[in-house]
Amino acid sequence: MMIVGLTGGIGSGKSTVATMFKELDVPVYNSDDRAKYLMNTSIEIKKKLIALLSDEAYENGQLNRPFIAKKVFNDSELLANLNGIVHPVVRQDFLAWVKEQDSCYVIQETALLFENNSQNFYDRIIVVTAPKELRISRVLDRDNSTREQVMARMNNQLDDEIKIKTSNFVIENIDLERTSSIVLQVHASILTDC
Ligand code: ATP
Repeated sequence: MMIVGLTGGIGSGKSTVATMFKELDVPVYNSDDRAKYLMNTSIEIKKKLIALLSDEAYENGQLNRPFIAKKVFNDSELLANLNGIVHPVVRQDFLAWVKEQDSCYVIQETALLFENNSQNFYDRIIVVTAPKELRISRVLDRDNSTREQVMARMNNQLDDEIKIKTSNFVIENIDLERTSSIVLQVHASILTDC
């Protein structure tokens, strides 16, 4: 079974593209959702996050998101340490999930594929791109983040040009119909290698 990484910067449309692959019956593992779940349930993560950030990292046994967001905001070293704790646990969880799948290929959707230096883990990499301003306005429309928060997250991510160079497929996501037709082409191309 091939393992395909699906990545892209904040607001590029990873989840939108992932849904299109799901509609083609491709199993998709959402790393960000799963990481959130594991940060609340994994004893290993909990212990290490408390050691890194203090007891305040959890409140009534649940991850104290506002506290963590405040701590890592503009502190890329701390953010890297946090990713270094969560990432290996997500990797193990993903591999266990892969064993349960039965298809030509599976997709791991992850915002920080290159940032976590995971490019060699994948058989194929798909990157979703869109102009920065469009990405910012999508996120501002989607949730109640401020422009400053979106920019801070963007600045912790690599530029598209670097991601494009190391990817097998680029899906430019501006017009949804066009995106959908590129997804079909990418899907057909991966299937020929099964
Ligand atoms: P994040 O990294 O922030 O989770 P993402 O890359 O997964 O973002 P999505 O959540 O798929 O991006 O898209 C961001 C927002 O933009 C969503 O509200 C989505 O519905 C919208 N969107 C995505 N693609 C398009 C498009 N081509 N046209 C219009 N709206 C879009």
